[in-house]
Amino acid sequence: MAPVLTIRSIRSRAVSVPLRFALGTSAQTVRTAPLLLVDLETDGGITGRTYLFCYMPMGAALVARVLEEALGAIKGHAIEPTKIGARLARHFRLLAASGVVALALSAIDVACWDAMAIAAGKRLVEFLGGKRKTIPAYNSNGLGLMAPEKLADEAEKLLEGGFRAVKLRLGYATLAEDLAAVRAVRKALPDDVSIMTDYNQALTVDEAFERGRALEREGLAWIEEPIEHDNYAGCARIARELATPIQIGENFVGPNAMTAAIAAQAADYMMPDLMRIGGVSGWMRAASLAAAAKIPLSSHLLPEVSAALLAVSPTGHWLEYVDWAAAILAEPLRVVNGTVTPPDAPGSGVNWNEEAVARYGI
Ligand SMILES: [Mg+2]
Repeated sequence: MAPVLTIRSIRSRAVSVPLRFALGTSAQTVRTAPLLLVDLETDGGITGRTYLFCYMPMGAALVARVLEEALGAIKGHAIEPTKIGARLARHFRLLAASGVVALALSAIDVACWDAMAIAAGKRLVEFLGGKRKTIPAYNSNGLGLMAPEKLADEAEKLLEGGFRAVKLRLGYATLAEDLAAVRAVRKALPDDVSIMTDYNQALTVDEAFERGRALEREGLAWIEEPIEHDNYAGCARIARELATPIQIGENFVGPNAMTAAIAAQAADYMMPDLMRIGGVSGWMRAASLAAAAKIPLSSHLLPEVSAALLAVSPTGHWLEYVDWAAAILAEPLRVVNGTVTPPDAPGSGVNWNEEAVARYGI
């Protein structure tokens, strides 16, 4: 029988990793990835690990502070994600388990699952009842808002690794610029390469109708977050009106948000973020919701852990690939023919390249 693991400490370290391709979105330009590396140490000597993308350096400092507070509530307790999650939900209830608190609690959940799988001597994908298999990935590095010539250049570079799908950010000042960007990328790539697009919530509902109709003939794989993420009624109107699939989900905080979005028929596709949906536990609930509603489920960031989760999701769709953590990982995720396979190592396979962690530490 596997030993009972109890939580001894949580160590977190912030790093800032330069991006190979800067990412200009309609909201903000990201040039370095602020990551928080989390080590959850147990009395059994096993360490569960994960990292978080914190959007801005301040995010990493805030999440680290929440982790310290959370440790006080769970130190000495057995690693049972459901019980740990309930305990932390109660601890943070009056403050609200949203925002940076949600990120921290999700990270603890992921680290718990990693530690449990390692203790069982199994890869995470197998510990969750699945098998290692290849998952189609799209290259989500780069293709931020920039001049069409630069987009064409970058788009070609993004096929390295055999990618057959890329994601382009939209939300320029005018529809004409959005169209020029799509056409520049389309022209630069072979016809069979899929183009996903992401507005990062830039439009009003009326603008989304106008731009969405104009983009209808461009053959896009999806239009992501055209309007503010939690306007599910608005998203539903857009999804009904447009033939191009609408994708939302990276801002779902916990599975309840996804339940509400599904009830509103807010989108054709959904893509929860592991660190907002509630870690592995939250993802598994989201995967059940998606399966029941027959909604294709994609991931958001964290490709190293998301690969295993997509492999066990009945409606698993696309993995969003970014290389942002590759520099600080001992075993970066490999892309082969535009696909990834869950790591061949016990647990989630996330472990640190300490030399690089020291170099990029903040
Ligand atoms: Mg997005």
